[in-house]
Amino acid sequence: MDLYEYQGKQLFARFGIPVSEGRLAESPEEARDAAEELGGQVVVKAQVLTGGRGKAGGIQLADTPDEAEARAREILGLDIRGHAVRRVWIEKASDIDKEYYLSVSFDRGEKKPLFMLTTRGGVDIEEVAEREPEAIARLHVDPLMGYQPYHGRWLCFRATIDDPDESKQVLALVERLYEAFVGCDAMLCEVNPLVVTRAGEVKALDSKFTVDDNALYRHSDVAEMRDVEAADAHERLAREKGVTYVRLEGDVGILGNGAGLVMSTLDVIDQVGGRPANFCDLGGGGDAQGVVDALEIIAADSQVRAILFNIFGGITRGDEVARGILAALAQLQIEHPIVVRLDGTNADEGRRLLEEAAPANLHVEDTMLAAAERVVELAR
Ligand code: GDP
Ligand code: MN
Repeated sequence: MDLYEYQGKQLFARFGIPVSEGRLAESPEEARDAAEELGGQVVVKAQVLTGGRGKAGGIQLADTPDEAEARAREILGLDIRGHAVRRVWIEKASDIDKEYYLSVSFDRGEKKPLFMLTTRGGVDIEEVAEREPEAIARLHVDPLMGYQPYHGRWLCFRATIDDPDESKQVLALVERLYEAFVGCDAMLCEVNPLVVTRAGEVKALDSKFTVDDNALYRHSDVAEMRDVEAADAHERLAREKGVTYVRLEGDVGILGNGAGLVMSTLDVIDQVGGRPANFCDLGGGGDAQGVVDALEIIAADSQVRAILFNIFGGITRGDEVARGILAALAQLQIEHPIVVRLDGTNADEGRRLLEEAAPANLHVEDTMLAAAERVVELAR
């Protein structure tokens, strides 16, 4: 789950990472009040779950409350790469001397948290990684040993941060970022830029914070930060029903049992010239309710023109899944053409059940390829 900048900064503050004081605003008037309360120059920042807001005009300085209101009015009307700006974060402006980059992320390859620190901050880190990879200090932390002060010292040394007062503050921040990363079960904690102000103060000016969805059960406060309005309506419904569903852009609804099988189904649809409308994994069981929930979500997408069930009977036998499908179709009004490919344990019996009892819009195919070709044709 990705957090907004202001939410990430709330978590940063909880772990003792210095951030600027700020307020959230949903209207230009609220932005004006916030600027008034904060006093002095402020920065008005679009809150969207995408980066590069600065370049898109979503970050503006304002000297007075009037100006903050005007800037907020402009920013609240923006669409930043498909993300409508519904809220702005107003914070006390910082007088920036230097912009650095610091992050800790989960390196799946090494199975360890990975720190990255560079004095080439404020810009796209991907660009720095391409042009001057040697300018980025990279260091893994052994998760069992945890953070040790030498990690921070090594990072500062490699990134050539040598001013004693500055490196002392950076060291403290690196350690706290690790605590936030572990303490929140994060996948990524990124500070870009990490700034040094003209007064010599080091702080986090931006935050990118991603928390592992699978750990949200033990961080109810973080789970509550989810912005349900920003999510796709179909995906929201799927989450409520506990269906594993990701919306895509095509017109062929997909339903399968097992994530790997569904992934390969998407490939086969593509291979025969079709476009999948979604990823949907029924999981192991073949119970009718699971099929009903999944079908309701898939059929609610108005782009869907035909639906493919790709079932491989393993532990869940093919005849059980067939009964689940039939029971689900008896409960629902589905007008779409449906193609079923059923293979594996008790597939013959499953296919026989479907052929005997199925409604007219259901077609059974023997192979994955034949089923994909059929459903793509029916979607035309
Ligand atoms: P991003 O573009 O989405 O990564 O948004 P950031 O929060 O990183 O802001 C982009 C840039 O805006 C920063 O790199 C800064 O140069 C500038 N900026 C952000 N906040 C301030 C501020 O308080 N004062 C000044 N002078 N510039 C700021
Ligand atoms: Mn940034």
